[in-house]
Amino acid sequence: MAFDRFGRKIHYLRISLTDHCNLRCIYCMPEEMTFRPPAEMMQDDEVLMLTRLFAGLGFDKIRLTGGEPTTRLHIVDIVQGIANTPDIQSVSMTTNGVLLSKLAKRLAAAGLERVNISIDTLDPAKFKRLTRWGDIEDVWEGILAAEQAGLTPVKLNAVVVRGYNEEDVVDLARLTREHPWQVRFIEMMPFGGTTELQIGQMVTAQETMGRIEQSLGLLTPVGGGELDGEARVYHIPDALGDIGFISSVSAPFCANCTRARLTPDGILRMCLLREHEIDLLTPLRTGASLEDLRKLVLEAVWNKPWGHGLAGGEIPLNRMMSEIGG
Ligand code: SAM
Ligand code: SF4
Repeated sequence: MAFDRFGRKIHYLRISLTDHCNLRCIYCMPEEMTFRPPAEMMQDDEVLMLTRLFAGLGFDKIRLTGGEPTTRLHIVDIVQGIANTPDIQSVSMTTNGVLLSKLAKRLAAAGLERVNISIDTLDPAKFKRLTRWGDIEDVWEGILAAEQAGLTPVKLNAVVVRGYNEEDVVDLARLTREHPWQVRFIEMMPFGGTTELQIGQMVTAQETMGRIEQSLGLLTPVGGGELDGEARVYHIPDALGDIGFISSVSAPFCANCTRARLTPDGILRMCLLREHEIDLLTPLRTGASLEDLRKLVLEAVWNKPWGHGLAGGEIPLNRMMSEIGG
């Protein structure tokens, strides 16, 4: 078991498999993006070696992310390798859904349990504007394919951006009347790359909640108002699904954080919104012993920052969201 100095049990690893993506969401990366050279990235066997290392330290929950994880060449084999790693209890994925209609069945058969699919609006033109390159039909087909493949409960992620989709939250929330999905609204967070937009056009969870209640009725807390992962979950009257709010900026959930992140280049990051990083890939490649690597991870976990410093104006600028993994 790995505990930090505040007594939090850290057992959830988000592995970013690539910084590449087949979309260019305006809040995530610039259109002209420079990617890291392939040799700097974790190779398939290195992803699995590091997964075994973390599993041996009590990490039992893995989420694959990116960049876009489904663009990784051997994604099905990687999922299978991780799912078959002793002591790993669950493997899930955050994806833009574009390739899911082709991959969902194979991913489910390989051991993937669930997916979170990003969709910020139901309006095709606004979707294109937000993602620059996306066709909403692909994502919708991906959502249905995920459901058919049993990658459930399907969760949909929407980042709310003023001037782009703040009114569209109502249509997205309405989906939960007819589908047993969890639609989650995410406050936009600031990183390097597109910081001005991320700060200037952020919409708070409170504002989004107000908008939804005005159109769809009272939001009732689910699970006694307890956090479900990072989301506070509610439902609207007569709904099959739930609505989650991830208010990382206005009401952070740091006290309940159980996670660590592995970047595509094999760097351990103990807080999404802090710049401090611990290189694991270089020691792995230069012959560090298992014991040395275990020590590096345990020390990093012990020193996990209590929380982020956005309220004090500390913005992590050394990587973009797509280079860390959301
Ligand atoms: N490409 C996949 C996707 O879009 O779902 C996985 C990676 S993406 C970086 C993970 C999640 O982070 C997505 O739900 C995305 O909308 C969200 N995201 C990206 N940039 C963000 C930002 N600046 N603030 C908050 N969420 C962000
Ligand atoms: Fe790609 Fe996901 Fe970033 Fe959009 S949010 S550009 S889909 S990595």
